[in-house]
Amino acid sequence: MTTSIRRWVETDTGHRVPNHKSKCKHFHGHRYRWEAEVEGDVVTESGTSEEGMLIDFSDISKILNEHIHDIVDHAFVVYELDDVAKNALSEMGDEHRTVLVPFIPTAENLAKWAYEQVSPHIKTAYGNSLRLAAFHVRETPKSWATWRP
Ligand SMILES: [Zn+2]
Repeated sequence: MTTSIRRWVETDTGHRVPNHKSKCKHFHGHRYRWEAEVEGDVVTESGTSEEGMLIDFSDISKILNEHIHDIVDHAFVVYELDDVAKNALSEMGDEHRTVLVPFIPTAENLAKWAYEQVSPHIKTAYGNSLRLAAFHVRETPKSWATWRP
């Protein structure tokens, strides 16, 4: 028996899928939703701030802001072997926020990336079991991807 909770942040982030057969190869962006799914057992230590919780929602929010939002919001995520995109964005100089990643930035791959960004920071001070169970990325209102190791 486990309990799970979810918390998300949103970002405005650009990308392209360089080999795509259709319009996804063009520079464009999405209002991404980055949703962490945390599971474990609730804190039972009497009188603590987290009693009855897995982890404080605001603590997850802080982690998502620091390790997802502040990296990819108003940025372009670019595959490191996508030389066309890298060259085009380099024309804009150091002021442009380009995030190079070692994978094609599809929702599927971004979900795995986000999981790895966030997972090490999901911790508890109370000895209850707690882990990042999955990471969900919404690219459009009709399109989600999940990474669940
Ligand atoms: Zn897209």
